[in-house]
Amino acid sequence: MAHELKQLSRYHNSMKLSYLLAGVLLLAPAALAEGLPDLGDYSQTVLTPQDERRIGEEIMREIRGSGELVNDIEVADYVNTLGYHLVTHSADNQQAFYFFVIADPTINAFALPGGFVGMHTGLILNTRSESELASVLAHEIGHVVQRHMARMMAEQKRATLPSLGLMALSILMARANPQLGSAALMSTQAGLVQRTLDFTREHEREADRVGLQMLEASGFDNRAMPAFFETLMKGTRFIDGSAPSFLRTHPLSTERITDMRNRVEQTPYKQVLDSIEFHLIRAKLRATEGNAADTVKYFANSLAEKKYSNEAAQRYGYALALMRERSLDQAQQQLDKIRTIIPSHPMLETLAAQILQAQDRPLDTLSQYRNALNVYPKHRALIYGYAENLLLLSRNDEVLKLLQDKQLAFPNDGYLYELQSRAYAAQGKDLLRHQAQGEAYYRSFNLDGAAEQMELALKSGDGDFYQLSIVEARLKQLQKLINDNKPKE
Ligand SMILES: [Zn+2]
Repeated sequence: MAHELKQLSRYHNSMKLSYLLAGVLLLAPAALAEGLPDLGDYSQTVLTPQDERRIGEEIMREIRGSGELVNDIEVADYVNTLGYHLVTHSADNQQAFYFFVIADPTINAFALPGGFVGMHTGLILNTRSESELASVLAHEIGHVVQRHMARMMAEQKRATLPSLGLMALSILMARANPQLGSAALMSTQAGLVQRTLDFTREHEREADRVGLQMLEASGFDNRAMPAFFETLMKGTRFIDGSAPSFLRTHPLSTERITDMRNRVEQTPYKQVLDSIEFHLIRAKLRATEGNAADTVKYFANSLAEKKYSNEAAQRYGYALALMRERSLDQAQQQLDKIRTIIPSHPMLETLAAQILQAQDRPLDTLSQYRNALNVYPKHRALIYGYAENLLLLSRNDEVLKLLQDKQLAFPNDGYLYELQSRAYAAQGKDLLRHQAQGEAYYRSFNLDGAAEQMELALKSGDGDFYQLSIVEARLKQLQKLINDNKPKE
């Protein structure tokens, strides 16, 4: 599958993810089957966790390339914190997870092989409480910990069908374009669809059960799960058919909802408050939607009419929308009002720095970032912003010192390496620049790109013997990984 995906991505790089994935399925069920990773002993019908991870990483790379991934680090950190809170309360928490958000107004979430769990902005915006959002994530985590992808693979093999690659892609595709997905599936694989749905229903019930346990153990309101799923099924709360894409990949039934209800009604009701981050992240996503003028109007009206679930968050969204219009003084006024409700929060400190930057006050921007980082040393939006602004002022030694320090705290953060590469480039240090870029690619699941950068580093002509041998060792390691990942003939 890796090979076919790579080839397609060369042709379709500029196309939207939905079309890319539609293309993959329409063109390629047979080809996908050929290119699937070797599963070793065929009597062993279930994929290894390593196989799953590899397939998940490959799909992640396509998603990144599609430009639909929400790159905002505060959004990413929020969903990962929420997701990991649930994961640590699941029975099996050995698996590594990676939660991400896709810019799409429809309501959907999906699990890929290898612990990758995606959700649409539409899901976050359409949930009424954090417990509702957690319900959907818990259900998805349920699919992962029960290893449904691998089991589906085993089932497919029994029915001699092209399998995991096809399933992963068709799930992704149905997510991206429900109508096309369904048409493609129906015309080519009518039998497969029926068998898959039967199999999926069993998986759905299992994901509900495991998800509900997780939700309870994590301290969320377990009644949110049947409530949200019922709303989805009725489809009354949502316009433009935004709900059905989730329903297509996770078929719901009255029976399932009744099962959930029976279960939660045996537990005592508890009131659970949403975190302030839930409100702030929703306001942020809302503030980046549509055109700036309409968004400003929406926030202004809702504040005037007091139509909001959290005033501070609503003002935060308003401030962000005002910044899009470059109404910086008004944005600052909103921030001042928020501070009378919430005196300090890392997301507010980030906003304060961003306003200063937009006002073209570089030194004030830097000191805002520096002071805020002293209070919130692990808030990555502050780290990124501080490093980017140091780079703008060519304060490269300071950037490098900051990044070295933060890379210890976030060893898997590719962007920190990207920034490091820029600082080295500014200093004219070619070996170090390519080495850091290679490490950035490695962390975006781009092994080929990483190896290429290490080769460039070796050819750069600078760097001492010690540096060269580190790069050489790393290149060998990457080449071995690339080789291990190749489907065996
Ligand atoms: Zn499901």
